[in-house]
Amino acid sequence: MNKTARSAILQEQRTISPEKANSESNWQLELANACRDPDKLLARLGLTGIVPAYKTADFSFLVPESFVRRMKIGDPNDPLLRQVLPVKDESVDVPGFLSDPVADLTSSPVPGMVHKYVNRVLLITSGSCAVNCRYCFRRHFPYSEAPRSLESWEPVFEEIWKRPEVDEVILSGGDPLTLNDRRLGLMIEKLAEIPHLQRIRIHSRLPIVLPSRVTEGLLTVLRQTRLQPIFVVHANHGNEIVDDCAEALRKLVQAGIPVLNQAVLLRGVNDSVESQVDLCTRLVNVGAMPYYLNQLDRVQGAAHFEVPVERGLEIMDGLRKKISGYAVPRYVVDVPGCEGKTEL
Ligand SMILES: *Cc1c(COP(=O)(O)O)cnc(C)c1O
Ligand code: SF4
Repeated sequence: MNKTARSAILQEQRTISPEKANSESNWQLELANACRDPDKLLARLGLTGIVPAYKTADFSFLVPESFVRRMKIGDPNDPLLRQVLPVKDESVDVPGFLSDPVADLTSSPVPGMVHKYVNRVLLITSGSCAVNCRYCFRRHFPYSEAPRSLESWEPVFEEIWKRPEVDEVILSGGDPLTLNDRRLGLMIEKLAEIPHLQRIRIHSRLPIVLPSRVTEGLLTVLRQTRLQPIFVVHANHGNEIVDDCAEALRKLVQAGIPVLNQAVLLRGVNDSVESQVDLCTRLVNVGAMPYYLNQLDRVQGAAHFEVPVERGLEIMDGLRKKISGYAVPRYVVDVPGCEGKTEL
């Protein structure tokens, strides 16, 4: 969020009396107040000896308070901290790590829409996220070209009208839940007018990093549409699935919405059998199902997070022995040009 948007929200906040403050403004305020200074975060965690590399990074630092609360004080290797803290390794150019590793730009018929697989299209509904994950494969994506106003989405809706084989729309980003309930509701209404659509899938990390985003208003929007909603959240470590986050996931599940999780296999974050067991167990304990464990997309600046596929396969073997069959995610990689994610 830029400065103007932030101050507009803060301004709005000041004019709302405490009694009137609804849950919608809570998450917006928390997002507006998210930590944007790695030094402040490190000081808060008692890690003043570390020098973050944010001055060389082209991808800004951003992490909301709720996620910070789940980091361990005094642990420089905390798996949540590692996901968000800019480090020097990011500026090392490694051959084979590209700026558009999954070739999204070549499967985009109109700005804002990616149609790679027959029955489902992905919409880039928002350029922003509530957290900036250092391994993100969209870190170089030209978000500014995606439509903003509802009217500017018309060409995308028209494309979907022309493609009867499409029965599912995936709202992705960035993060679609950075849109407010009203915008999201209007967008879903427009999509529900397309007769061949049956499901709306929301790919969001907000229930994990900004659990206050799971508002009553959001649940109402999803209850009111004729489209079947499906949530795909993104948590990488068991320590993320606690407190307000566990609560938010439960809320979605109790609203009757299937909740799936995709994780990314990340060196120094979740590259062990124990850590995967913990993540998957905590997810199923709140009724969310592990869906994918993604092999890292080879995006420029993320090479230091890569785990070799052989090690990934070993972890999967160990995982299968320790947890129920339904709790085991599929270990996949996104190979450009392939039909769907490829199982490893
Ligand atoms: C990953 C992805 C999807 C969703 O694929 P599923 O295997 O159904 O989860 C859809 N569109 C694009 C462009 C994707 O990258
Ligand atoms: S929330 Fe998702 S899209 Fe946003 S930075 Fe993290 S991985 Fe990337």
